[in-house]
Amino acid sequence: MITGAATLAGVLGWPVRHSRSPLLHNFWLDRHGIDGAYVPLPVAPEHFAAAVHGLRAAGFRGANVTIPHKEAALAICTKVDHTARRAGAVNTLLFTGESIIGTNTDGAGFIANLRAHGVEPAAGPALILGAGGAARAIAAALLERAVPVSIANRSLDRAHALARELPGSRVLYWQERHAALADHALLVNATAAGLHRSEPLDQDFTRAGRDVAVADIVYVPLMTKLLTDAAAHGLRTVGGLGMLMHQAVPGFAQWFGVTPVVDQEVFDFVASDIPPS
Ligand code: NDP
Repeated sequence: MITGAATLAGVLGWPVRHSRSPLLHNFWLDRHGIDGAYVPLPVAPEHFAAAVHGLRAAGFRGANVTIPHKEAALAICTKVDHTARRAGAVNTLLFTGESIIGTNTDGAGFIANLRAHGVEPAAGPALILGAGGAARAIAAALLERAVPVSIANRSLDRAHALARELPGSRVLYWQERHAALADHALLVNATAAGLHRSEPLDQDFTRAGRDVAVADIVYVPLMTKLLTDAAAHGLRTVGGLGMLMHQAVPGFAQWFGVTPVVDQEVFDFVASDIPPS
């Protein structure tokens, strides 16, 4: 139940109906008995700026930002932190007075999810597939932790553009991603390949050492073909839903005043809405 004094937040996206963030945040609100609500906010790109100013004026405490608005969110903030600047994108907004404060929690959420699965990112070099917004946030977070990063992307020019933004990373050809596993401790799928009803990512694991961990940030389905193939090779796997949950923690804490916990109960609750494979 919410009252007239409820604290409000939401997720801005276009489209946004696929987002599991409302399920997640409202589960936590309920668990902590907080007078608040977290709502989906479908906003077309041309209305993004007006929507953000409108939410602030309407007393919202803040919002998450998802595809395709993360770069526009960076531009609209009156203040952004170092992490958002490095990621080139904002996924979490906090409204305080006249200020719009932006950060990016995707990289930290990715790292927290790895650790929750017993995978230490600093164990060795990481090979990131993809050069979009999520790849950039993850690469920045790994580099910040002194993890060497290689980037392979279907479109080579985007991989080079990303590597230029993040000194210390190097670019591999897309076709090199199979053989390159021999020199990496972690493989990250940060592409959209493998998403439900789309073409799965084709990855050969025969060159991977036994200790390689494979993380997929796609979480619909929960068990992508990439993860199934990696597991069949005896490799450790990390699914993407945990990243979504961990990246949500700082926003919830700032808006609603309680730091929520990512545990099996909340995982199972949100996972029950997602096809398993
Ligand atoms: P972008 O649109 O910015 O980037 C998409 C990337 O995927 C590009 O590198 C693109 O390559 C690549 N790609 C798309 N289709 C294919 C394909 N069939 N084969 C190979 N590469 C492909 O998206 P984001 O970076 O924002 O998001 C990427 C994925 O990560 C999405 O599925 C998103 O849902 C997921 N995600 C998950 C999060 C979580 O919390 N678990 C958080 C954020 C994102 P190219 O440059 O060649 O087009």
